[in-house]
Amino acid sequence: MAPWPRRPRLVAGNWKMNRTAEEAVALARQIVEAVRGAPPCEVVLCPPYTALESVRAVVRGTPLRLGGQNLHPEPRGPHTGEISGPMLVALGCQFAIVGHSERRRDMHEDDALVARKLRAALRHGLAPIVCVGETVEEREQGHTPEVLARQVAAAYTGLASEDALATVLAYEPVWAIGTGRVATPEQAEEAHRLVRDTLDRAVGAGVGARATVLYGGSVTAENAASLFAKDEVDGALVGGASLEAEGFVRIAAAAGR
Ligand code: PEP
Repeated sequence: MAPWPRRPRLVAGNWKMNRTAEEAVALARQIVEAVRGAPPCEVVLCPPYTALESVRAVVRGTPLRLGGQNLHPEPRGPHTGEISGPMLVALGCQFAIVGHSERRRDMHEDDALVARKLRAALRHGLAPIVCVGETVEEREQGHTPEVLARQVAAAYTGLASEDALATVLAYEPVWAIGTGRVATPEQAEEAHRLVRDTLDRAVGAGVGARATVLYGGSVTAENAASLFAKDEVDGALVGGASLEAEGFVRIAAAAGR
């Protein structure tokens, strides 16, 4: 993967385990129509695996990009129910979410596995969207800085700076995901600084300032602009609000400003 030429403004929709292939096509069509061929920023759709092929057909020829919600660190083999980097690439994906807190929680994915997935994505030419973030207990106990430092360092230590810069990071406080409780712009800003500082230490001086760092957690069309007003915030990873075309496109519009 080549590094991003600049810090793009980017909004990615994580549809999670929602929408059949047919429903996903309808949603993707609405998004394509709403952006009218000119998305205000980089827009990535991450439907369920079962809808990747049909959504690909909808976004083909448009600037919208496709991402997987996960990938296995191995390219093939006896891993029932998993999906690999080459499979995502064959379906037209350019991105893959790794380390989402729902997978850390439900599938017991740890920092070491997230690091392997990040490297697997890069090996196959996918830009990993690497999710990090603290739980509510960790925040309340004042452990946010060390949790973010641990997660980012575990994922990025040993990477060359051009590889690190070909990834996207997403600061997603676990307490904000799907709860309607969004981080304040100041909380997001502070966390993004911590993420960037850790990248400088783990990869090399100056990498943090050049890295693309998204905020994720209850982003809506109403709160997006205040988050994006912070220089540290390059865009958003959006869950619930990405399932409704008009609101999602308004979020992208706010990021593009
Ligand atoms: C997510 O799951 O990545 C997410 C940010 O979800 P939501 O926007 O629904 O909080």
